[in-house]
Amino acid sequence: MGTVRTAVRVEGVVQGVGFRPFVHALATGLGLTGLVGNDLDGVFAEVEGPRAAVAEFLRRLERDAPPLARIERVTTRAVAPERSGAFVIAASDPRSGLRRTLVSADTATCADCLRELADPADRRYRYPFINCTGCGPRFTIVRDVPYDRPLTTMAPFEMCEPCAAEYHDPADRRFHAQPTCCPACGPRLAISAASAASNGHDDPLQAAAELLRQGKVLAVKGLGGYHLAADAACERAVAALRQRKHREDKPFAVMAADLAAARQLAEADEAAAALLTSPARPIVLLPRRPHASIANDAAPGNRQLGIMLPYTPLHHLLLQAVARPIVLTSGNVSDEPIVYRDDEAIQTLKGIADAFLTHDRAIHVRTDDSVARTFRGRPMLIRRSRGYVPEPVTTQTAFPRPVLACGAELKNTFCLARGRHAFVSHHIGDLENAETLRSFTEGIEHFRRLFDVDPQVVAHDLHPEYLSTKYALDLDGVDLHGVQHHHAHIASCLADNGRTAGDGPVIGVAFDGTGYGPDGTIWGGEFLAAGLAAFERGGHLAPVPMPGGAAAIRQPWRMAAAYAGDPEVARRHPDRWAAVVAMAARGINSPLTSSAGRLFDAAAAILGVRDAVNYEGQAAIELEQLADPAEDGVYPAAVGAGVPFTIRAADLLHAAVEDRTNRVPAPVIAARFHRGVAALIEAGCLLMRDRYGLGTVALSGGVFQNLLLLHDTVSRLEGGGFRVLVHSRVPCNDGGISLGQAVAAAARDRA
Ligand SMILES: [Zn+2]
Ligand SMILES: [Zn+2]
Repeated sequence: MGTVRTAVRVEGVVQGVGFRPFVHALATGLGLTGLVGNDLDGVFAEVEGPRAAVAEFLRRLERDAPPLARIERVTTRAVAPERSGAFVIAASDPRSGLRRTLVSADTATCADCLRELADPADRRYRYPFINCTGCGPRFTIVRDVPYDRPLTTMAPFEMCEPCAAEYHDPADRRFHAQPTCCPACGPRLAISAASAASNGHDDPLQAAAELLRQGKVLAVKGLGGYHLAADAACERAVAALRQRKHREDKPFAVMAADLAAARQLAEADEAAAALLTSPARPIVLLPRRPHASIANDAAPGNRQLGIMLPYTPLHHLLLQAVARPIVLTSGNVSDEPIVYRDDEAIQTLKGIADAFLTHDRAIHVRTDDSVARTFRGRPMLIRRSRGYVPEPVTTQTAFPRPVLACGAELKNTFCLARGRHAFVSHHIGDLENAETLRSFTEGIEHFRRLFDVDPQVVAHDLHPEYLSTKYALDLDGVDLHGVQHHHAHIASCLADNGRTAGDGPVIGVAFDGTGYGPDGTIWGGEFLAAGLAAFERGGHLAPVPMPGGAAAIRQPWRMAAAYAGDPEVARRHPDRWAAVVAMAARGINSPLTSSAGRLFDAAAAILGVRDAVNYEGQAAIELEQLADPAEDGVYPAAVGAGVPFTIRAADLLHAAVEDRTNRVPAPVIAARFHRGVAALIEAGCLLMRDRYGLGTVALSGGVFQNLLLLHDTVSRLEGGGFRVLVHSRVPCNDGGISLGQAVAAAARDRA
């Protein structure tokens, strides 16, 4: 049995996740000698010993890898044996090569750390910053790569002797855990002084819990920014929070101590429970229990509740101390981004929070909580941010040249891509103020450094007024690709499903609120014959005027006027009705739109759900809540024969008005409207199949966040023999646009 030596290279998320100690333990356990180390490409190792033992090492390397590791590729080559006597951990080599190493996402406190947190004999007993290579802060504290403590916001905290000993011990769970620390050497919790004194607790955590129990609003510094917290069952506290935050109707998320506590508030099936307890710990939208003890103001008019479980040791300790669920919502005013710097937090939140529970570990990148739900047992991300970012979306084919995609205007994300990795950014927000624009430009610079991407191809929306478009057009020395908004949605759905250019075109159904159409109208109810590189507009909802332009987005009653001239809506707006109808008829300040979002708005106004909205998509969300899922009546809509064909969606609204006149209950009408939209999508797809010979449908656009519509649409299409692609890894809303732009631009670059 001869001795062999094999050089091994492991690529993927393999740093900061306990990979080297794992390799060390595996190799020594098999009696192998050699070395393991980190470099800019990932992990390198050399193992030497009997051929069978080396083979066993390679088998277990992938099979038994640490839970947070994401191995993308293992390559091996034979090298000459060195007869070395031991297995050692080599020093990191930061010198050369691409920065291919992947920084992992922030990860919820692991079971081992939770056990220590609860153990009075442990030196980190009740320490709110406990972490290890298997859990803790990552993306939010990384300033640069390689991922090493001096390049994180943990740099100012010098490790004490016991921590340093663990950090340097390959057999220890905290071997090279960059954020490792303890009460003696790590960050400390603090509470604003006046409030601590007022209730006599000198422990900041107990003082904070006491304030929450008293119905106070607390600002809490979390992983990616400040949150505002209040006792979720306390009407007074939640009402005060809502009023001070100027957040009129948007639902607040709730944090529950554990899965059992979450299940008292909402229904979570197995798939939802898996998502709730996953290391990413997103906010999961769940059906609310009718008698859940939650303040009315937490999620007004909503049958869903956004719930998350604690994801930092601080959250665990706080929830235990308060002993009841808390509302936990972004620390910001109205639509501004979540605050993350200590000075700005005090400045911005002092009028909202009664006290601040904070600490001295800096947050480098502002990162909001992610939001998800499940569809047919699969996760469906609605906002992809903390816990997921910056792990790349892996694509089937490589990007020929490095790409930057600038995304859309609302719910903006950007995307940097190279090789087979698309690094879709954290949620930046609506690009309509200086603060979000700064997050956008600084975020792009940060990602460029972190992942060593120097974009040569830049993709952007066609809308000339989007700040993201203007940013792209200002760049020098790059190849620019304008990608139509709805084509980007479909390309995003294709990439989400691992489709390549070679898979050929699909029927893309892109239903959303607003997107710039090359014909000068506003698109948003589109049937596209689409591949990654190009598309043809095969059909769309018949365009209607949007009286007053943007005003029609804020005031859905205007769409009811334009669409159906509904007399009951007219009665609610006697002063402006005639003017708005005339405006629409004459086309004055009334751009034409085929938007499905505006169709839902009109239906919501007709049903008296909402005449004005406080946030994008609100009318449609409330219409979905109203609908009776048991009703299976369907409103029909006429499909025109032209090329591209048009669908007369106004038929749905006329049927709704007629039903309402006949005193059909509103939940029944709302359901028939939803089923009518699903039916018209099916009709459109059948026509597309006839004309283009395509059998696969990709569904994208924010309208498909509507689960009632999505379920009905997918069942109908599958019943009609179509293969249906829906989103999972990236949002169907505009948060997924940047990925679609990136793959579309790459497909053209390749051509
Ligand atoms: Zn841990
Ligand atoms: Zn320490």
